[in-house]
Amino acid sequence: MLNTITDHVSVSDTQTRSPRLWIPERVLFTPAALDEDWEQQILRRVQSLNLPIKELSQNRLKGLRGESERDTYNIAKRTLAVVTAPPSSFKLSPIPPSADWQFHIAEGCPAHCQYCYLAGSLSGPPVIRVFANLPHILENRFTPGSKEVLQTWYPQSKLEMNEAKRSVKRNKFGGMKYVYDRDTMKALRCFFESEITKRFPNAEILYWT
Ligand code: SF4
Repeated sequence: MLNTITDHVSVSDTQTRSPRLWIPERVLFTPAALDEDWEQQILRRVQSLNLPIKELSQNRLKGLRGESERDTYNIAKRTLAVVTAPPSSFKLSPIPPSADWQFHIAEGCPAHCQYCYLAGSLSGPPVIRVFANLPHILENRFTPGSKEVLQTWYPQSKLEMNEAKRSVKRNKFGGMKYVYDRDTMKALRCFFESEITKRFPNAEILYWT
């Protein structure tokens, strides 16, 4: 779970910012997670990093709410919760409307992209959850719902989210999102393709959306 995370960077920042390791400020364990074999390995890893640990008295995550949505966001993004995954998480599930499939060993994201595509689709505080009962085997767009949530999380953001300057894209499920216009998308695509080719010469780009 302690992945290398790159903070949100603008196109012009990519040469100057380097990835940094995300370390939670505290780790919560639910009672159900503490009963799992895999949990012992997670616990040892957390202890070796000297991170504050809290064993919860119940399986429901509590203590993540701050006085405002912004406080709640900050508390949750700095917290790792070791929990048990629901039975539905044991099956591969499709990701509509793409042809991809997903299987989660963890949920949430510790990064701070001001255009976060999860905003508006998460229920509750955006805490990072890792599942103890599973064997370990950017899109530049916003929606009406994500814009509303992002404005409470990043009230000072200068990120441009003006619907009038965007194109509307609809999916077959009735959802809509505001994306960059054709010329901007073309420039972005050229940039990413050229950078990926330069930095990962053997990589194959499967699709662009
Ligand atoms: S989930 Fe949101 S914050 Fe995390 S990398 Fe994606 S866009 Fe950024």
